[in-house]
Amino acid sequence: MRATQFFLNTLKEAPADAEVISHQLMMRAGMIKRLAGGIYTYMPVGLRSIRKVENIVREEMNRAGALELLMPAVQPAELWQESGRWEKYGPELLRLKDRHDRDFVIGPTHEEVITDVVRKEVKSYRQLPLNLYQIQTKFRDEIRPRFGVMRGREFVMKDAYSFDRTQEAALKTYDVMYDAYRRIFTRLGLNFRAVNADTGSIGGNRSHEFHVIADTGEDAIAYCPSSDYAANVELAEAVCTAQRPAASKAIDKVHTPGNSTCEAVAAQLGLPLTATVKSVVFANEWLDKNETKPAKKVQIVLALVRGDHEVNDIKLGKLTGVQELRLATEAEIVAAFGTQPGYLGPVGLKGEVRVVADRSVAAMGDFVCGANAADYHYAGVNWGRDLPEPEVADIRNVVEGDPSPDGKGVLAMCRGIEVGHVFYLGTKYSEALQAKFLDENGKPAVIEMGCYGIGVTRILGAAIEQNFDDRGIIWPLSIAPFEVVLCPIGYKKSEEVKAQADKLYQMLKDAGVDVMLDDRDERPGVMFADWELIGVPLRVTLGDRGLKEGKVEFQSRDGKVEKRDVEVGEIFEQLRVELASRQVSL
Ligand code: ATP
Ligand code: MG
Repeated sequence: MRATQFFLNTLKEAPADAEVISHQLMMRAGMIKRLAGGIYTYMPVGLRSIRKVENIVREEMNRAGALELLMPAVQPAELWQESGRWEKYGPELLRLKDRHDRDFVIGPTHEEVITDVVRKEVKSYRQLPLNLYQIQTKFRDEIRPRFGVMRGREFVMKDAYSFDRTQEAALKTYDVMYDAYRRIFTRLGLNFRAVNADTGSIGGNRSHEFHVIADTGEDAIAYCPSSDYAANVELAEAVCTAQRPAASKAIDKVHTPGNSTCEAVAAQLGLPLTATVKSVVFANEWLDKNETKPAKKVQIVLALVRGDHEVNDIKLGKLTGVQELRLATEAEIVAAFGTQPGYLGPVGLKGEVRVVADRSVAAMGDFVCGANAADYHYAGVNWGRDLPEPEVADIRNVVEGDPSPDGKGVLAMCRGIEVGHVFYLGTKYSEALQAKFLDENGKPAVIEMGCYGIGVTRILGAAIEQNFDDRGIIWPLSIAPFEVVLCPIGYKKSEEVKAQADKLYQMLKDAGVDVMLDDRDERPGVMFADWELIGVPLRVTLGDRGLKEGKVEFQSRDGKVEKRDVEVGEIFEQLRVELASRQVSL
């Protein structure tokens, strides 16, 4: 590609609404243009990188035995009503009507459409398994589109859907996809982790998110640096290895005026925060259908965690069952505990309140907690002696330094950007849409499904979050819009410069290298700034001065090749070596 025939539109300044570096740099490099909130045009330079991501994804999906198809963006509402998601999906689902007043949606995902295709086409076990994928534009009316293409409203996704005869076969397909994802993100040159996102809900699902590690990531991840354990912070198991010590103090009611937090009480008593117990009150609401008239029931749940820990309401919610869990109101608290929040605790409670202690709280002795009286706490509290043994469960968020659930070290925290998601669905959609087949015995059976997404456009932003400096983007070779840029100084003035630049350009093109020849005849500073911003991995500068001595200047954007003079006759070979060394091998 020649720069004069290309459409370059780099900017000095990023727009004010670009909060993260990848958004700023993609705008400045002219990769994307904003049309409306979360809606972008992918400019030629940006589209080149998108195509490279797509090609790697496509190669690996094909390799894993998936078949490409392309589904419509506009989908009839009836399918969404059938699956139940017309009601459930909420305002992220963009709904519209056609001229006949029929309801449609713009697809945020394609489980309904693909299941409809398969239920109509697949009759026999002989047609299974099937794994179908597409690379297609999605629309989700995100409440807060931001970070450029990372949280857009319109974005490109690779979505795959697998159909198997049995759960066992479906879980094997899941493993094949998991493996394909590892290959994809490795080939893309990203620092990533597969994160366990299994919600552990009844019916058994299996789910992993693939996260690119970056400080700007929206998700908090707990991982073990000495093993491959990683999980969403909300889902990571909090292990307690401590044993409860024997009681050594008598229970003591202490006056703690105004000290309503664990921190304040610990400071007053000269104790570590880890000697205090935090009381958080929830209300569990459900509809009792057993009575003749369905009635709303509420149970108060007292969740106890150590003063330095936080309650995890997802874990608590799972424990208390299918009901609706929310924080208790002040009135509910006063009714159950006889006092205002701030001085609550588990001692002396009547049977009405369900007390759930975190594992680490159950392992405490001589602890401090609220006394259910304003301005008073108990100190020296011990389970079994001063109050009944509690119900014990994992109900807190993990923190840095907790033992890793796999027993192979301690947990560390990082942030991640979700770029991919593999999900074992079971029969959720096939049941709802009645996608069945006749098995070997001629008996109808529901198809087992899985779904697998990759955020193609989000990957660009995530890759930049990991690879940039103050001059711009530093693309991994695999997704750089161009692999090599040639910067001739005085292209239109010097015969020699033009001849050498054209010759090298042709050689590289013939060798299949993705090369850009900057024939704009711009000053070196302008050329360098543009290509450093755009992030082309390798650069060759050709000028009269160097060529007189038979030399050109060579450097790499990633800093591995510092600026150096190379014989004209050797530059092609050197480029080949540097390109090969940046090729990811699996
Ligand atoms: P998130 O939790 O980030 O909202 P999600 O769980 O809703 O994502 P999935 O439904 O699993 O996303 O979609 C598959 C992939 O599509 C995600 O892993 C992500 O890479 C990408 N993706 C999802 N939403 C967006 C968006 N608004 N903009 C860009 N990419 C997106
Ligand atoms: Mg997801």
